[in-house]
Amino acid sequence: MGVVEYFDQQVETASRDKLARLQSKKLDAMLKKVFASNPFYQNKFKTAGIALSDVRSVEDLHQLPFTVKKEFEKDQEEHPTFGSNLTEPLENYVQYHQTSGTTGKPLKFLDTQESWRWRGKVACHILKGAGVRKGDRILFPFNFGPYTAFWIMYEGAYQLGNLIIPTGGWNTLQRLQCIIDNQATVIPTTPSHALRLIDTANENNIDIANSSVRILMLSGEPGALVPGIREKLERLWNAKCFDYIGLTEVGTWGFQCTEELDGVHIIESEFIAEVVNPETELPVQEGEIGELVLTNLGRSCMPAIRYRSGDLVKVKKGICPCGRTFRVLHSGVLGRKDEMLIIRGVNVFPNVLANIVESHIQPGDDYQIEVFKEAGIDEVAIKLETKEKGKGGVIQRTIQDEIKSKLNLRMEVKIVPAGSLPKFDFKAKRFVDRRKDKNT
Ligand SMILES: [Zn+2]
Repeated sequence: MGVVEYFDQQVETASRDKLARLQSKKLDAMLKKVFASNPFYQNKFKTAGIALSDVRSVEDLHQLPFTVKKEFEKDQEEHPTFGSNLTEPLENYVQYHQTSGTTGKPLKFLDTQESWRWRGKVACHILKGAGVRKGDRILFPFNFGPYTAFWIMYEGAYQLGNLIIPTGGWNTLQRLQCIIDNQATVIPTTPSHALRLIDTANENNIDIANSSVRILMLSGEPGALVPGIREKLERLWNAKCFDYIGLTEVGTWGFQCTEELDGVHIIESEFIAEVVNPETELPVQEGEIGELVLTNLGRSCMPAIRYRSGDLVKVKKGICPCGRTFRVLHSGVLGRKDEMLIIRGVNVFPNVLANIVESHIQPGDDYQIEVFKEAGIDEVAIKLETKEKGKGGVIQRTIQDEIKSKLNLRMEVKIVPAGSLPKFDFKAKRFVDRRKDKNT
């Protein structure tokens, strides 16, 4: 174990009691502002019959109603342009972002200077968690778009005082040359882009394994938390991989530290996390699977209070070897609540299947997981496009065998012709649920 880097050691290693007191203080400050001038939450709390005096500490949080994505969507539709979840006058907001809108109309999110600085502070926890040090040079291979993911890391890198190298608008080869020329050491990117960079490096005889890059900060797709993907990327880049997790609606709330390969810390100094049973809405027992509910503490200007993430998680027991007291979620997020399947009596998350497929395919290969009903029973078909000439059959059998051994389920893997699966620009939609097609 190397030296553990902290962003704020006192806070990150504080006792659980101290942490709860800190959360209560921040919650109180946030709610005071929200009760005073946020029309969206004023309405919600009034309907629920809740007064500010009802919530004095984090223990009282359950008094407040949950917030779901549909409410934000409806609010922005009814109150154009930015909705009514705004605590401050419009002219105070300085940053605009939106969701990708893969599951509906994109949601817009605004930040003030204060909340933007807070988002950067959150990213500092994430970067230090991955062991980023003074002197690291952070190269951003992202375009200047409206999605938050890498923007936040950019602000975090700026606040930490590291050299930032932007390469938006450049092609993969230019980015690679920039990495080599400027001895970049940290690259925040998506796993698929990290693999594309390797492809291009190989085509151009660039030796990326011997470059100065030592850390990949991964987001957007399953990455460092999937052993097969992490091993592949760490070997090809000769660098350490770390995932970080967030939601545009709430902020980036989770990061991987250097000491725990199979979990994600919740940044509990800036977020209150609850894990509830999605049906009963009551807290689950320690170690049980439940839905993650998040309250952000530093974004009073456009808050998310008791926000139902839709992500199913399981809290790990004990304290992480890194010394942080922030709780750790087993494997990060286990899957989406609405995507859980029951296949012949076995609970299966599509991303568990995706992780198995991903660890056996090569850059440039593609796949889709389709769920449908056959005689009233959930069935799954995995379609796979591979560029590996003549190896389709081997990959097909390897994946089928691994699914059988890990989940005790027989599942069909079909090799489909190259180019037959749909292509996506931003985030690939690899899970297709056709169960309702026949039944409704
Ligand atoms: Zn840790």
